[in-house]
Amino acid sequence: MTSQATHPPSIDAIARELAAQFSLPHAVLVHCARTAVDEAPANAIAVAHEVATEFSLSLLTTVINGTGVLLHTNLGRAPLSFASSDRPTNVEFNLATGERGSRHTSVSALLSQLLQVEDAIVVNNNAAAVMLVLAALAHGRDAAVSRGESVEIGGGFRIPDVMEQSGARLVDVGTTNKTRARDYARAINSRHNDIAMILKVHPSNFAIQGFTESASVAELADLGVPVVADIGSGLIDNTAPWLNGHIDRVPSWITNEPAAKQAIADGADLVTFSGDKLLGGPQCGIIAGRADFVDACASHPLMRALRPGSHTLLALQSVLLSYSARTACAEIPFWSMVTTSITQLESRAQHIVSASGIGATVPLDSLIGAGSAPGSTIASFGISVPGDHRTKLRMHATPVIARTVTNSTYIDLRSVHPNDDHIIIEALTSLS
Ligand SMILES: *Cc1c(COP(=O)(O)O)cnc(C)c1O
Repeated sequence: MTSQATHPPSIDAIARELAAQFSLPHAVLVHCARTAVDEAPANAIAVAHEVATEFSLSLLTTVINGTGVLLHTNLGRAPLSFASSDRPTNVEFNLATGERGSRHTSVSALLSQLLQVEDAIVVNNNAAAVMLVLAALAHGRDAAVSRGESVEIGGGFRIPDVMEQSGARLVDVGTTNKTRARDYARAINSRHNDIAMILKVHPSNFAIQGFTESASVAELADLGVPVVADIGSGLIDNTAPWLNGHIDRVPSWITNEPAAKQAIADGADLVTFSGDKLLGGPQCGIIAGRADFVDACASHPLMRALRPGSHTLLALQSVLLSYSARTACAEIPFWSMVTTSITQLESRAQHIVSASGIGATVPLDSLIGAGSAPGSTIASFGISVPGDHRTKLRMHATPVIARTVTNSTYIDLRSVHPNDDHIIIEALTSLS
């Protein structure tokens, strides 16, 4: 027996060797070394490198989204940068009075102006918003939902399950393909039911075609019970005034999305939506509408568990200020991706191809993503490289996430910030 077989290198020696390649804390490297020695004592050094590599790749990092899916769920939906500071914020401190304040004051005022609502509050995501509204307004009572809107959205947000957790009872109304206002009226008038509210859910990530019918918010608003519209996508106004001067005509994927301002104008008592879909803000959920209902949500015991932190509120406030200033296209990354012209994208693609000497320019179709405007595309431009290079691109110092279709790799530039084009050039150069 060699001495190597009887004495695997010491854990500390392996950890010190790993330190040359991985800038991870010593304690983490020791953990990797110990795992390797336990698993494969005869081959500990090589296995320790694998374990440390795996650990490094599991850390959160910034990436380049070359997929052309503008709101990529796996990449955190809407990209957003916000200035951070070591200083505290006045999150619950009223500067005017010097007394305790509410964390909702600033965003609530901005949302009230933008959406023409009485009040608004913010929670951690839209699933939490829907849950809180049901718990606050319909606990122990019934909520009417169309059978065509009893949907599952994204990873496990299923309306019947959320309803059950909130303590509200689900009353199914209509059929899968057709639900009319009179179906809701029948449920409301039935002596078996105690309908506290109608919940209208936007079936964000799919479309039923053919012989279909659904009741509008305006029709439901006449039925004498509160109407809550879960619009999901967070489009604040489907006339999109912030696009003026950036795009010739508001595209149909925007005009056809349910929007918060229009749902309220049509008579919804509350709207709920995500902050990180078409709003282009941080992950959060917004509840906006009638002041007494918003207050019932704000004072519900669940609110404490669902409230957002000051970083979220600061980021949301800056996004809402951009909408107010109509500078969304310059300041909100999602809207600048949407409005970048095809000629700009084409010339960026040409520059990348000539600088890297790799691939060819190619017209592409970007997707909105995050279950918003399913099936709609925006013409785009990018780079194609024969073969499947996704792994190598993903392992680049700043990972580049690309798509592969029929053994060609595509990088769509609409979802890439122009300041990151040099990273794409580096990553492509490394393929040769
Ligand atoms: C996306 C979506 C949700 C879930 O929102 P999260 O912010 O992901 O929690 C709920 N309802 C609708 C209609 C949605 O589109």
